[in-house]
Amino acid sequence: AKRLQQNKDSEIEAIESWRQAVHRRKIVYCSRTHSQLQQVAKEMQTCIKAHPPASKVRKLKIVSLASRKELCCNTSVQSESLQAMNEACADLSDRKAAGKPGCPFQSSHKIEYESLKFQLAEAENIMDIEELNNAGRKNALCPYYLSRQTAVDADVLLMPYQSVISKSTRDSLGIDLNDSVIIFDEGHNILDAFLDIGTQELAYKDVRTFCLLLDMYIRRFERRLKATSFLAVKKLQKCAKFIMQWMDEKSESGKCNIVASAETFAFETKLDNMNMNEVVEFAKRTRIAQKLRGMARKISQEKERDEAKLKSTDQTINNSVKNPFHAFIGFIGAMVEVSSGYKLLFTESNGEGCLRLVRASVGDAFASLLDDAKSVIISGGTLTPVNDLKVRLLPKNIADTSTLFIQCPHVIDDAGFLCLAVPSGPTGMQLNFKYKNRSVQLQQECGRAILNFSRLIPDGIVVFFPSFKYLETCLSQWKESDVMSAMEVKKAIFIESSPSLQFPPSLKRYQSKSVGDLIAKYTLAITSKRGAILFAVAGAKLSEGVNFRDGLARGVIVVGLPFPS
Ligand code: SF4
Repeated sequence: AKRLQQNKDSEIEAIESWRQAVHRRKIVYCSRTHSQLQQVAKEMQTCIKAHPPASKVRKLKIVSLASRKELCCNTSVQSESLQAMNEACADLSDRKAAGKPGCPFQSSHKIEYESLKFQLAEAENIMDIEELNNAGRKNALCPYYLSRQTAVDADVLLMPYQSVISKSTRDSLGIDLNDSVIIFDEGHNILDAFLDIGTQELAYKDVRTFCLLLDMYIRRFERRLKATSFLAVKKLQKCAKFIMQWMDEKSESGKCNIVASAETFAFETKLDNMNMNEVVEFAKRTRIAQKLRGMARKISQEKERDEAKLKSTDQTINNSVKNPFHAFIGFIGAMVEVSSGYKLLFTESNGEGCLRLVRASVGDAFASLLDDAKSVIISGGTLTPVNDLKVRLLPKNIADTSTLFIQCPHVIDDAGFLCLAVPSGPTGMQLNFKYKNRSVQLQQECGRAILNFSRLIPDGIVVFFPSFKYLETCLSQWKESDVMSAMEVKKAIFIESSPSLQFPPSLKRYQSKSVGDLIAKYTLAITSKRGAILFAVAGAKLSEGVNFRDGLARGVIVVGLPFPS
C-alpha cells in the first residue's frame, strides 16, 4: 500500500511539473446549444478514429464544459433557476468546510484522481456531457467539478456561447482565453448571443419584493448581524429604494419608454454617490439573494399555517418564491460592470414598469476577446453577406489585414446537387404561398407536389413549412383527403412538435416527445430502407444544429418563403 501511495504521489508530482513546463494552446470551440456541442464531440471522435495520430504524439484531450443545470447530479439541488442551484451548491460546500454534511458527490480527492486518469490515458479522451455524467454516476463524484478539473489540461474545450462571451462566467469556470484559438460555430448567431448575454432585466415588482423582504430580514436579524454587515445590508436597502423611487417618479410623471445612458441613470437615482462595487461584492459574497429566498419560503409556509396573519403580503410572498432577488442582484451587478456601449431602457406595460440594461453595441465585448485570444474564427454555413457582421462586430481600429475571409465550396459537388424553384403543382396551379392565397386548393396542390417528389427521391426528405399553424392546417387537410395515406404508402411520416400549438389527435401519433426521439425514429425508418418524410418548421428546433447526413436528407423542400422573425 505504501509503494502504491508513493507511486501515486510521484505520478502527481510528475503531472504537476509537466503542467508547469508545458504551455499548450487551447482550442475553445463554442456553439449555441449543448446538443450541437455533443454532435461536434461525436464528429471529433469519428475524425480521430479515421486518422489516428502517430503513437508518440500526445493524445488529444477534449472536454465539454457546462453549467450545473446540465451536470449537477444532486437531486436536492435541482431547480429551475441556475443561480439558485449555484448558491445551493455553494451552501453545501460551506457546510462541508464547517465539518457538517455537505454534498455527497463533492470529493476533491476523487475528482483530482479521475482527472489525472483522464490526462494520463494512453488514448485520446473525449469527456462530453454524457461521459461526464456517466463518470459521475459510476464513481459517485460531481460531474460539474470533474469537468472543471479536467478542463485545466485539455487541448480542446467545448463550451456554449454564453460561457465564453460572459466574462463573469469565464472567471467562475476558471477559463483563461489567453493565447487560445476561439471558434464560434453557427456564427450567424453571434451578434444575437452577444446582445442577449449583455441584457439584464429588472421588473418593478421584483424591486418592490426585494425591498419588502430586505426590510423583514433587517427586522429579524438586526441584533444578530455584525455592525459591518448591518451597515452593508442597509446600503443594499438604500440602493433598492433609490431604484424604486426613480421608477415611481417616472411612472407618476408619465415618462415611460425612456432611453438613457447607464451614467445618467446612476446620476438620477443617486447611485453614483454610493460605492456600488462594495454593495455588489457584499451581496454576492454573503449570498443574500439565497437567504432572502429561504426566508420568503419560510414565510410562505407560515402563511399557509396562519392565513390571516400575513394577509397583507399575500401577493408579494407568492411572487417572491419565483426569486426576484437574483434579478435585483444581477441587475446591480451588471450596472457596475457596464461600459459606454450600454443603454438603459425604462418601459411600462399594464401599469408595471420594467428596466432593461442592454448592450447597444457588441464591438467592445468582442474586442476584449480579441485582446486575449491568439485568433478568433467565426464559422457557419449561412454567414454571408459578412459585411454587416464585420461592421457590427469588429472594433473600428482593427486593420483589414488582420481579418481573413474564407469561403469554401459546398461539400456536395455540382453534379450531385439540384436546386429548383417549383412555380406550379401537378395540376398546373400556381404555388404562391402569400397569406391571402392560402386556400384549401393550394394546400392540396402542395400536398400532391410533395407526394410526387416522395416517389422520386430516395431515403429521407425534410420538408420545412413557414409556421406550425400552416403545417398543421395542411397536414389536417391531407389527412382528410387521400394525400397523406398515399404518402404513407411510400414513406414513414414524422412531424416536429410545437412548443405552443397542440396538433389534433389524428396527427399526434406522428410526433415525439423530444427532438432526439423524433430524429432516432426518423433515422431508423431510413436505415431500415422504409424511407421517411420529416415535416418541420423553418426557424424551429429542427432547422438548425441537426446533422441530416447522407440518406437523412436526400431531398429538402421549403414550402413558401420563410422570413426572419
Ligand atoms: S458538488 Fe456537484 S453534485 Fe454536488 S451540489 Fe454541487 S454541482 Fe451538484
